[in-house]
Amino acid sequence: MNPADVEKLFEGIPRKKICFLPTPLHKLENLSRIYGVDIYIKRDDLTGPNPFGGNKTRKLEFIFANALQENIEYFISPGGYQSNSCMQLVTFCRIFGIKPILYLADVINQGVPDEYKGNLLLDKIMGSEINFVLKDYEGPNINPLWNKMMDLCNKRKEELQKKGYKVRVLPSGVVDPEGLISYVLAFKEIFEQGECKGLKFDYLYHTTGTGGSLPGLIAGKILLDSDVKIISIACNPYGPNDICSEDIICDRTETIFKKLNVEIPERSNIFNEIHIDQNYFGEGYGIPTDEATLAIQELAREEGIFIDPVYTGKGFSGLLDHIRKGKIPLGSKVVFLHTGGSGALFSEVGLTGALTEK
Ligand SMILES: *Cc1c(COP(=O)(O)O)cnc(C)c1O
Repeated sequence: MNPADVEKLFEGIPRKKICFLPTPLHKLENLSRIYGVDIYIKRDDLTGPNPFGGNKTRKLEFIFANALQENIEYFISPGGYQSNSCMQLVTFCRIFGIKPILYLADVINQGVPDEYKGNLLLDKIMGSEINFVLKDYEGPNINPLWNKMMDLCNKRKEELQKKGYKVRVLPSGVVDPEGLISYVLAFKEIFEQGECKGLKFDYLYHTTGTGGSLPGLIAGKILLDSDVKIISIACNPYGPNDICSEDIICDRTETIFKKLNVEIPERSNIFNEIHIDQNYFGEGYGIPTDEATLAIQELAREEGIFIDPVYTGKGFSGLLDHIRKGKIPLGSKVVFLHTGGSGALFSEVGLTGALTEK
């Protein structure tokens, strides 16, 4: 298919256009010179409508179009205190007059925050209802906490429904079947912007978390018959008992093909497109790493661009490490998908002591 054919697949699918699209794609001149690899960046941190957005905003365009048709009155969603996803959800709720309720988990065992910072502060300014959920055990495994959060969200939904309200719960990362297709269009944008510059990218790097963006990227790649290799750096563990797994990515990619009314490829063809590197999340989700701190510093000092400690800092640290280790041949053309999240830079998650004075 060509990009126009892909665009046509979306005709008739409800969507509330809020994002500033296409987001820019530009070269990182200084880092490209330093590393001998042409590094480009796709600025999905600039999806809008506020400057702290990111990849969830694309998904919410589709989710909200559907919710408005169903006259939804409340959205409930879980996340960490610094959830970028929840902040974007609250933004959309405010735009469309739907009430937001957040259950925010203490993923780094800090207790109830005595100050609102970063994305939590933004949630507060936008007037969202916020409920803190404490982690009553030690260790980086957040799966039990995540299950508890979903229970709390669902319980609250039942309570509100009993009172006659229309309520929807969005899982963490606003991973909802309706939103998955949005990253097909994001892939198409990258593809077209590359073509405009006469470029064919060899690699597309991004950070994967709840697995809401990767399926769309894979579907976009298959639909457009692109040769780019998609490399996902995980910001949390992936596996059968975790928040996402390769099997789930495959299922969701199939869901996208169904939704777009296109024949579903062989499952093995989808599986072959999944390359998730789990070496860069450190101790776990939301826990800062020295490598991410240094990557945040390097991108800021060479290019004046900010990434975040929870997601994109870890993703970018993976990209730089792959280049240093020669996994990406010199002269390759790489695009890093900046999925946003910079609000968390102003939070307690922050940076490690690795930040240098230089
Ligand atoms: C959610 C998020 C990711 C991960 O994307 P998924 O769709 O959850 O895999 C990456 N970066 C930022 C800033 C995010 O908020």
